[in-house]
Amino acid sequence: MTNYPHLLAPLDLGFTTLKNRVLMGSMHTGLEETRDWNRVAEFYAERARGDVALMVTGGIGPNLEGSVLPGAAMMTTEEDVKNHSVVTQRVHEAGGKIAMQILHAGRYAYGPKCVAPSPVKSPISPFPPTELDEEGIEKQIGDIVNAARLARKAGYDGVEIMGSEGYFLNQFIVTHTNKRTDRWGGSYENRIRLPIEVVRRVREAVGTDFIIIYRLSMIDLVPNGSTFDEVVQLAKEIEKAGATIINTGIGWHEARVPTIATSVPRRAFAWVTQKLMGHVSIPVITSNRINTPEVGEAVIAEGCADMVSMARPMLADPHFVKKAIAGKSAQIAPCIACNQACLDHTFSGKLTSCLVNPRACHETELLIEPAATTKSIAIVGAGPAGLSTAMTCAERGHRVTVFDKAAEIGGQLNMAKQIPGKEEFWGFVDWYRTMIEVHDIDLRLNTDVTADDLDGFDEVIIATGVIPRDPEIPGQDGDNVVDYIDVLRGKVPVGKRVAVIGAGGIGFDVSEYLVHQGESPTENLPEWMAEWGVADPAQHRGGLAPDGPKPEAPARQVTLLQRKAEKHGKRLGKTTGWIHRASLKMKDVNFVGGVNYERIDAAGLHVSFGEARENPTLIEADTIVLCAGQLPLRSLADDLEARGITPHVIGGADVAAELDAKRAIDQGTRLAAVI
Ligand code: FAD
Ligand code: NAP
Ligand code: SF4
Repeated sequence: MTNYPHLLAPLDLGFTTLKNRVLMGSMHTGLEETRDWNRVAEFYAERARGDVALMVTGGIGPNLEGSVLPGAAMMTTEEDVKNHSVVTQRVHEAGGKIAMQILHAGRYAYGPKCVAPSPVKSPISPFPPTELDEEGIEKQIGDIVNAARLARKAGYDGVEIMGSEGYFLNQFIVTHTNKRTDRWGGSYENRIRLPIEVVRRVREAVGTDFIIIYRLSMIDLVPNGSTFDEVVQLAKEIEKAGATIINTGIGWHEARVPTIATSVPRRAFAWVTQKLMGHVSIPVITSNRINTPEVGEAVIAEGCADMVSMARPMLADPHFVKKAIAGKSAQIAPCIACNQACLDHTFSGKLTSCLVNPRACHETELLIEPAATTKSIAIVGAGPAGLSTAMTCAERGHRVTVFDKAAEIGGQLNMAKQIPGKEEFWGFVDWYRTMIEVHDIDLRLNTDVTADDLDGFDEVIIATGVIPRDPEIPGQDGDNVVDYIDVLRGKVPVGKRVAVIGAGGIGFDVSEYLVHQGESPTENLPEWMAEWGVADPAQHRGGLAPDGPKPEAPARQVTLLQRKAEKHGKRLGKTTGWIHRASLKMKDVNFVGGVNYERIDAAGLHVSFGEARENPTLIEADTIVLCAGQLPLRSLADDLEARGITPHVIGGADVAAELDAKRAIDQGTRLAAVI
């Protein structure tokens, strides 16, 4: 008897059956653009082997003007059909099913040729779109239909027509972007004509035994978005036009509400999909921040949807479903929704991967194979660098001993998990704990290792992490000065007025920690919705609260300082930095940049500005928290080297500058793959 009877139940679509209720949602990985079709095929085949019922590819353009970027993958020629056939064949051999997403980006297309219903420039692109005429609209429909026809020829089991997230079809639906007065604009009936016509003609072209998923924006989160009555009307028309399944889209890309970041509560938008249930008779998929089988099961059991879409969780663990089937859900590598190696990479033009699983999208390059010679390996430090090395070494058959001077594994992840909005880090550390047991790793906690303890191992790996940088500010030895470690471990009291020195990732996180009290909004959906101004789209157009965000009052008055004169948080994650900034702004955190730290005394922190040290200012504060960066903790490595032993040094112990868990895990896994 499975723990997930709803999630793992088959879904009969009439002409075909899905083996369970898990869809791997579309992700733009950049793999298709490598043109290495073997690599693309292996990425999807690995997930098919993991028993996901149906996968959707990253967005594939139907023509040049609709492609997300110049050079982005398209489905327009027989050559494309041949290339994509490599993927579909490999997926089918692995027992999987795959649909190709047809993505027409409209005004979100990052190029001068972009087209849209009206010439309204998007706030997230520099390119003003050209307004389509009747002939132009007909061409776009024809190209989308052609892409669907070719997808079928390439062996896909279906297509997903992207109608949400503010892309082309969505742009026709709402007056925010559609200012037309012809039959494609004006009334709602006119504005939804295009998506309906697209689905109708795609169905005509592909026949009845082919999956058509329509991704429908159920809560736009932009001004003048759809009401829920309009969403229902569209969904009914889309069903009539021939769609097999309706998938949920949440928020436009330009929305100022986070929709998938780690601080968004789990299943935060399942209630939106639930509102559509019963209005259509085809299956409905829900999406966003569903990352465990337990959450997926609950969402379906409660009637929020017929299926769940999980995209990033399939990067973190391609065998997510297989492990759920086997009753091993504690072994599923968790997606912590950080975006650090997936979306941040995509938006920086880099190939996608995963912080938790560096093999994601690197399946043909980062190979984990049994070791030719079994070795005994000592790893000092049970932070992410040491733990990822340990797991991979053990997986390859080595005998692994992990030491840590702390009483628990996780290293700095144990501080990260204290931050409101970073609760996913708890599960991340739990997963490592499970895997240490699964791989029978010899774990020795409360052990402050010295060079003497490391005799007799074949290989020694130093993953001792970092120490905080000393900013050397006169007066910093006063009682009112504390470092981030003591604050996050709850070891020191912090006053009501706080100056935080250093506005890097840790300075931002510490500020977030200090302005909150009580339950984190990430654990309390109504509070989170109020904080970001999310409302029921049945009551307010687009799901935006008319009186905007209503955050709780800050628990402390925080000033966040940096010496650089640049925008605060400029170096934070590409897709999440704005959320951290907005979140602190909502709590009235005062951002002060371009400072020199002059001295600290009982009144607070004295700063001046610019090279000439002008404008002396006192930042009145009861507590000053030091978050001035980190330096490698290499003393053990140095001791070993002095004895003629050359250890492998990884993670923060190797290079502390710009260190994060992504780099620590990647470095550890890659070392373990070859040791
Ligand atoms: P560490 O995690 O520092 O682990 C080193 C371990 O070595 C420690 O457990 C220590 O006890 C042990 N050790 C040291 N010396 C000895 C010895 N002599 N004997 C035995 N054991 C020893 N990164 C991200 O990617 N995303 C985030 O969102 C994020 N948020 C963060 C939030 C906060 C508040 C903090 C503090 C950090 C955050 N980080 C984040 C950074 C990330 O946690 C670190 O980059 C990462 O943990 C570094 O990994 P590491 O294994 O090199 O070192
Ligand atoms: P950091 O990002 O390097 O920031 C250090 C801060 O200290 C900077 O604001 C820097 O700004 C300041 N600083 C540097 N030298 C200083 C000095 N001598 N005196 C005073 N201020 C000084 O490091 P961090 O905040 O300690 O974070 C450590 C790592 O953890 C980072 O690499 C980060 O990526 C990672 N992390 C990531 C996240 C995430 O969400 N992805 C969250 C937390 C941490 P000025 O030089 O301008 O003063
Ligand atoms: Fe999830 Fe982070 Fe991995 Fe992306 S990088 S899949 S958000 S864990």
